Amino acid sequence: MRIDLHTHSRVSDGTQTPTELVVAARAAGLDVVALTDHDTAAGWDEAADAALAAGITLVRGMEISTRHRGQGVHLLAYLPDPEHPALRAELERIVDGRGSRAPAMLAALHALGIELTLDDIATDGVPGRPHVADALVRAGVVASRDEAFARYLDEGRPAYVDRYAAPLTGTIEAVTAAGGVSVVAHPWGRGRRAALPPEELAALARLGLAGVEVDHQDHDPGVREELRALARDLDLVATGSSDHHGLGKTDHDLGCHTTAVAEYERLLDRAATAAIASTRAVPALVTPAD
Ligand SMILES: [Zn+2]
Ligand SMILES: [Zn+2]
Repeated sequence: MRIDLHTHSRVSDGTQTPTELVVAARAAGLDVVALTDHDTAAGWDEAADAALAAGITLVRGMEISTRHRGQGVHLLAYLPDPEHPALRAELERIVDGRGSRAPAMLAALHALGIELTLDDIATDGVPGRPHVADALVRAGVVASRDEAFARYLDEGRPAYVDRYAAPLTGTIEAVTAAGGVSVVAHPWGRGRRAALPPEELAALARLGLAGVEVDHQDHDPGVREELRALARDLDLVATGSSDHHGLGKTDHDLGCHTTAVAEYERLLDRAATAAIASTRAVPALVTPAD
């Protein structure tokens, strides 16, 4: 059984519709795929229909933009009720913050003599930095999304605009209360390690964090083994995923990293426990057998 628990569609910063993504996941030989667009459940219904049609299991998820010790941390939430009040309030604050961020980035670029309009960054969801980056590529200002970030959009670069991010600890609690489970995405990738040393991950585990994403392109093999050992010590689920973005990110092909069946089942058990403790029904996976 091949399981990929972290992918993005056009609803956030991927390049495929949820349907195209699910069809591609099946074609890539996956049996289980999670759709984890940034800060939104808006792709879930379409993905669910596509999963039933394609004969693949869908895990409804999202990747929430949080902050911890002054650093951005991405939190994967699986099977939460997105309408649960605390979670919904956080998602709304994040999306509102992003809504005002795009115009501010365009204004910063304008000050640099680069003219882009909101039409240039239009998307199915809320436009964010990747959409501005893609528009810079299309305008011929830079050659790639990576170059756009490095020159203009990364923190410390001239068109960087800060925005609201949810507090990590409160978000873990909100996800649990909403009947879901949380897994820190690429916790030790790209300089994020300082915000999440082992003792912090231990504290988060006590707070209800269910797992850490171990096998991810942002982790080199040594980091993966260290993190896997730590997950074992802390009784955290260790996942592996592609973080696929369609054509929006190279080297993140569907299934390039996968999650072991035993780890996946532990994650589902934790989700079932959270769902029973919350006031909602157990969140159903979308399985073609149902
Ligand atoms: Zn991420
Ligand atoms: Zn991601």
